[in-house]
Amino acid sequence: TQLLAHRLDAIKPSASMAAKQRVDSLRAAGRPVVDFTIGEPDFATPPHIVQAGIEALLGGQTRYTASAGTPALRQAIAAKFDRENGLAYAPEQIVVGSGAKQIIFEALAATLNPGDEVIVPAPYWVSYPDMVALHGAVPVVVRCGEEQGFKLTSEALEQAITPRTRWLILNSPNNPSGAVYSREELEALAAVLARHPHVWLLTDEIYEHFVFGEARHVSILAVAPELQDRTLIVNGMSKAYAMTGWRIGYGAGPLPLVRAIALLLSQSTSCASSVAQAAASTALQGDQTCVNIASEVFEQRRDRMVGLLRQVPGLRCLSPDGAFYVFPSVEGLLGTRTPQGKMLASDLDVMMYLLDEAQVATIDGSSYGMPGYLRMSFATSTEQIGAGCAAIARAIGLLQ
Ligand code: PLP
Repeated sequence: TQLLAHRLDAIKPSASMAAKQRVDSLRAAGRPVVDFTIGEPDFATPPHIVQAGIEALLGGQTRYTASAGTPALRQAIAAKFDRENGLAYAPEQIVVGSGAKQIIFEALAATLNPGDEVIVPAPYWVSYPDMVALHGAVPVVVRCGEEQGFKLTSEALEQAITPRTRWLILNSPNNPSGAVYSREELEALAAVLARHPHVWLLTDEIYEHFVFGEARHVSILAVAPELQDRTLIVNGMSKAYAMTGWRIGYGAGPLPLVRAIALLLSQSTSCASSVAQAAASTALQGDQTCVNIASEVFEQRRDRMVGLLRQVPGLRCLSPDGAFYVFPSVEGLLGTRTPQGKMLASDLDVMMYLLDEAQVATIDGSSYGMPGYLRMSFATSTEQIGAGCAAIARAIGLLQ
């Protein structure tokens, strides 16, 4: 008999988690790797938020909370939606989980039956297709190429919808491409969804505060409020407040869906950490300067990384409008040979070559559903960005 359930056959470990392990083991072996795989801010959680966590501990907020989250945090999240997104949610329409990842997971668990389809525009965050597959449903991956700014068009959406479509998963600002949908682009997508009332919308807005230059984050519900009764907005504390390890994310949506997610939480983790929920309430209600500063720092680093990578022959890169990743094409390097005589046939080969020759860790675009590209995070210091890009340029210069 087999130990593991058939369900696991459909999924693989998260590529970003695997990349992190590669970096950790090389470093443990004493190799000075520059890490461009990082999916989290390199800053510490701001002190006033840490202080709120300490006070919660000392004040005895150390017990189980309601499965959907504490009243204080749900209230703070409702206020955030009103203040930052112009969206009206009652606290009952909000559910708190151990990260946005858990909210997405439970939302899919709560709604998918075998054979259902979920539209996932590529490039995508690595976890969406695997989570869909784990629940017996089919990820319908729609390629959104560089020529369309890595964004889903209304025509492509229309074509992908079938009677079995349950969800469209949108992610703006996007991981890995940094693409940010404009108001007009969202209106066009919403117009298609309006014609297909059986399709629900999961909009992952976890990078909303990191948008650069002229780009603005707009929630699709702000342009199409009529979709609110079949939309789940997912967001969380990890990126904006440098709180990845605290594990607090949340969803806002129609009551039956939110209640179903809370039911699953009650039978799995019971609730998110009480201490982290207290700190998250303070983060959302307190001074937002820390978020603005982080965004400015990321914008400077983006400019630095894009500037350096654009000088490297064989790489081609758009300047991302948001998040903290650059997504250069490495197609210009395919077919070249390394000094050891190995031909680089794929983005995976390029990734491994850069790791060996330049000691710079990146993640292959294939893992994000977009072969021919690499994801490079600029959530690291300017010095590391400078050193890593110089090492990449040198290694690429050795290719023949
Ligand atoms: N959504 C996107 C697009 C992400 O990039 C991430 C983290 O990498 C998450 C969701 C999950 O965030 P968390 O579970 O830390 O809230």
